[in-house]
Amino acid sequence: MKIFISADMEGVTGIVHRDQLMPGGSLYERGRKLMTADINAAITGALRVAPEAEFVVCDGHAVMRNIILEELHEAAQLVVGPAHPDNKPLCQSQGCDESFDLAFFTGYHSRAGTKNGLLSHTWVGSTISNFRINGDLVGETAINAAVVGHWDIPVGLVSGAHELEPEAQATIPEGFVFARTKQTYGFSAALCLPPAKTGKLISEAAAEAVKRFKDGKLKAHKPKLPVTFEVEVHRREMADKAAQSPGIERKDERTISATADTTIAAAETMWRAVCRAQDQEPDWLK
Ligand SMILES: [Zn+2]
Repeated sequence: MKIFISADMEGVTGIVHRDQLMPGGSLYERGRKLMTADINAAITGALRVAPEAEFVVCDGHAVMRNIILEELHEAAQLVVGPAHPDNKPLCQSQGCDESFDLAFFTGYHSRAGTKNGLLSHTWVGSTISNFRINGDLVGETAINAAVVGHWDIPVGLVSGAHELEPEAQATIPEGFVFARTKQTYGFSAALCLPPAKTGKLISEAAAEAVKRFKDGKLKAHKPKLPVTFEVEVHRREMADKAAQSPGIERKDERTISATADTTIAAAETMWRAVCRAQDQEPDWLK
C-alpha cells in the first residue's frame, strides 16, 4: 500500500503565528519540529493497520524545505524544494501519481475569507482573495483532493484547526477522518493541544482512515470535467500579469480562470499563473 501525504504547516500542532512559519522567524526551528512530529504520528498510525505501507511526503508549505528529514519516519520519502512551476507544477501534491492508494493532508488550514480562520488563506495569501472549482468556493483541501482525485485516490485523513473540519466536509467526499489539533480564536491565536495529545489523535485518525480505505468506505474527490479553476486576486495588476500565462482566460478586472480536461492540468495552469502574478519573484519561490 502506498500513501501520499501532502503536508502544510498552518494547521500543525501549536502553530498560530508567522514567527513559527517562515525561515528566520524566532520560533521557526520549533515549528519545523512540530510539523515533522505531526507527519510521523500519521505514518505511525497508518503502519499499525498497514505494516507494509510506503509513504511519500510532499513538504507543502511556503519554502517547502520545512520538514526535518533526519527526524522523518524511515517508511517515508520526502519531496523537498520550492514550488516553482517548472520544479513542482503540482505544488503541494508534487510526487503523487497513479501508484498511490490513499492520501493524507496534515497541517492543513481554512480557505481565504474564512471568518476568524487561523492563518487562513488559499495558496498565496498576498495574492488570492477567492478560489473556485466549478463555481464552488474552495480552499487547499478541496484543491489538492481534486488533484489526487485525478488518480482516483481518496483523502482519508485531514488534520488542522477546528474550523477546517466543516470546510472539508462541505467540499470533499465524506468518509475521511478529521484530527483536530487546536481550537481557533482568531487569525493568530488558538487553544492548542500539546504534541503528546495530538500525536495520539493524529495517529488514531490515520489508523482509522486506513481501515476505512480497506473497507471501501472512502471516495475520491472528482469534480465534473472539463473542470474550471477560477481565481480572484486582490489587485487588477496581479490579474494583468497572471492573464499572460498560457491557458488562462481573463474573466473580469480581478478574476482569471483555467478550464481543462483534467484537474491536474487545471491546477498546473492556475499555479503557473498565480506565480506569474507576483510583483517580483518572492523568496519562497527561489
Ligand atoms: Zn502553508
